[in-house]
Amino acid sequence: MVVKILLDPGHGGGRAYNRGFKQVENLPYCNEGDCNFIYARDYLKPALEAYGFTVGMTKTNIAPDISLQRRGAMGKGYDLLLSCHSNACGGGVRGVEVWDSTNPKESLKTLGDKICSKVAAALGIPNRGTKYRRNSTGSNYYGILRHGLAKHNMIVEHAFHDNMADATVYRKNLQKTAEAVARAVAEYFGKLKPTVPEKTAPVVLDEEKFVQSVADCLKGKNLNILPSVTIAQAILESGWGKSELAKNAHNLFGIKAGKDWSGKTYSKKTKEQKPTGEVYEIVADFRAYDSYADSIMDHDAFFVSTDWRRKNYAAVLDAKNYKDQAKALQSCGYATVLDYGKQLIGLIERLGLQQYDKGVKKYVTRDIQTPSDWAKEAWEWGKAQGICDGTRPGADMTREEMMTMLYRYDQMKGDNHAKCHCTDKRNSGFNTGL
Ligand SMILES: [Zn+2]
Repeated sequence: MVVKILLDPGHGGGRAYNRGFKQVENLPYCNEGDCNFIYARDYLKPALEAYGFTVGMTKTNIAPDISLQRRGAMGKGYDLLLSCHSNACGGGVRGVEVWDSTNPKESLKTLGDKICSKVAAALGIPNRGTKYRRNSTGSNYYGILRHGLAKHNMIVEHAFHDNMADATVYRKNLQKTAEAVARAVAEYFGKLKPTVPEKTAPVVLDEEKFVQSVADCLKGKNLNILPSVTIAQAILESGWGKSELAKNAHNLFGIKAGKDWSGKTYSKKTKEQKPTGEVYEIVADFRAYDSYADSIMDHDAFFVSTDWRRKNYAAVLDAKNYKDQAKALQSCGYATVLDYGKQLIGLIERLGLQQYDKGVKKYVTRDIQTPSDWAKEAWEWGKAQGICDGTRPGADMTREEMMTMLYRYDQMKGDNHAKCHCTDKRNSGFNTGL
């Protein structure tokens, strides 16, 4: 007997669907919408297929947030609709639970209980059991259960993603989790032996591996470009490392070989875009490297590799966050694609690449002795007032340095509040603009 199962990865894709998902270090897809999709497509679907189930999905790419009604309607003709979720509850709760349909004809408590006990055992998290919830009109509270047209419809809340311990054990064990759920479903439907056991071998997640290998190359280095931006550029420029340039020349960023390049080169056709939007083709020489690591470090150094580039990319080098840096790459003319900055930001936010920027030592190449244009007037004022000594305008500062500057400013005022200890401190009027 063919048993048909429809997987419904809950929510849409991207950072908008983070819903409190804890960012597990070094792992992308740490938001509910993305994780649900990756889990369903790359782990649960193959795990169920290995038992001989026919498996469908309510969505075939990561982005769309399909209405509950449409998702539910897709269940028609299926024996079981499993809506895949992770849970959130203020960060203090752990465990797996299943929301089963309140309609007695659809309800499948035996399966809900099986899923809970197997996932709880696989991940070492509490078993919260099979649950039921009705709305005020007496039907299912949850839309997907109300609208679900499969024979049986249920929601699996695999773990609590707003709890760091749960989020970590779940995110690091999607394969284990999927195997536990698949085994529960197989036992229930009497398919005890996987028909194609070798299929349950871990699915290689190319995208995740690619992100991590680029991130690993950047770890602990002094960088001009934020890791999130470099990783997004590598994804975009090399198509996740699958481009001809990436494969044949280890060139992940499509950097061309100009006059200043003395290394190996690789020629190929490439598309350019005119400011009018028109796309045209040229044959160009590109830099060729011995390894991806070489390509990644050459890309970071590229922006300061000549005086002209250092000047041309000043806004890129000065940017303090991924958004500004991505936009600056476009405005400085790094790429001819018209929405390049937007594409980078979209990728960074969808994959949660900001996590790789934490604690990065950056902007070592900045000349800290010269104030930025936007700060020049304020800097000169501070010098003239004696608030700062006029050195190192571009340097980071400590809390005591900041407090000293505030104190000097306060001292400079005639009424000298800092000294007199009176309670009548300036409130909103006290604003140095620091
Ligand atoms: Zn959810």
